[in-house]
Amino acid sequence: MQEPAFRYVRHAHTPFFRVPYAPFDDDGVPDFTGADAVLLGVPYDGGTTGKRGAAMAPWEVRRVSAFVQGFHATHRIDPFVAMHVVDGGNIPTPPFDAATTRAIIDGEIGRVAEAGAVPLVIGGDHSIALPTARALARVYGPLAVVHIDAHFDTSTGDLWGDDHHHGTPLRHMIDEGLIAPKKLFQVGMRGPLGGPEDRAKSGDFGGRLFTADAVDERGVRGIAAEIRSQAGDAPVYLTFDVDAVDPAFAPGTGTPVPGGLSSRESLALVRALAGVRLVGMDIVEVSPAHDHAELTVTLAAHLLFEGLALAALHRSER
Ligand code: MN
Ligand code: MN
Repeated sequence: MQEPAFRYVRHAHTPFFRVPYAPFDDDGVPDFTGADAVLLGVPYDGGTTGKRGAAMAPWEVRRVSAFVQGFHATHRIDPFVAMHVVDGGNIPTPPFDAATTRAIIDGEIGRVAEAGAVPLVIGGDHSIALPTARALARVYGPLAVVHIDAHFDTSTGDLWGDDHHHGTPLRHMIDEGLIAPKKLFQVGMRGPLGGPEDRAKSGDFGGRLFTADAVDERGVRGIAAEIRSQAGDAPVYLTFDVDAVDPAFAPGTGTPVPGGLSSRESLALVRALAGVRLVGMDIVEVSPAHDHAELTVTLAAHLLFEGLALAALHRSER
């Protein structure tokens, strides 16, 4: 349950959405037993190739999420009543050691999934999605992946001399067999590419691509309906790079690309996925230092709320 807003103001603790923190032991390790959904921050942006700052998003999104109310007007459900939702704190990682960072994220997301809870993660840059997908696929098997982004994120290590950065997580997910055949859905891609090969990786894999132009032509509800029917009963991992959203609506990101989704389209897209079996979600690339008027962090909080509603709906249908 959410705590009343007045009490939140009184004590000034800032968990996501005024939910309780998971109980932490003396070593600072949270216990996820009994939770249905766990909100987590991953303050890591060591995979960023452009402007940094996504590491600070968990604190800012927590703060603005506190005044998001609980009842979902469209779905007619309060995810905080339908589920036991906790704040699992942040996953602390050494920012100078990417491999150790991936191992720690993998372990923590694995503990959430093994407890039977849905992890909802605020990054961090997009490189954190790979260990998240690894952990989810280990628990649930190959995933249906809904990847919302301006970019394909299937780059190689050629450009930067390292195969792990925020432009490569989807390539690794494909190569490691984490995504089920015919169950990759990419939405929002646009803008200049490094070359024609940039979009070949997911196309060769059989991924379904809905560019920003396709969003314009078909609308997000039509796209979501196709994703829902193709995903079927598969475990769905939703990885939302906030740069899918137009910089006019979400300026707080390190790699902005003009011509993206509006806030309304982004929220409607996630909302229209109702019915899928959501097993995990992240929102990445939110960079508060580049934000204006808290547009991006507020949108991220509302996208997390839409994700919580998806999880609650699926649980209530079981
Ligand atoms: Mn991106
Ligand atoms: Mn990305």
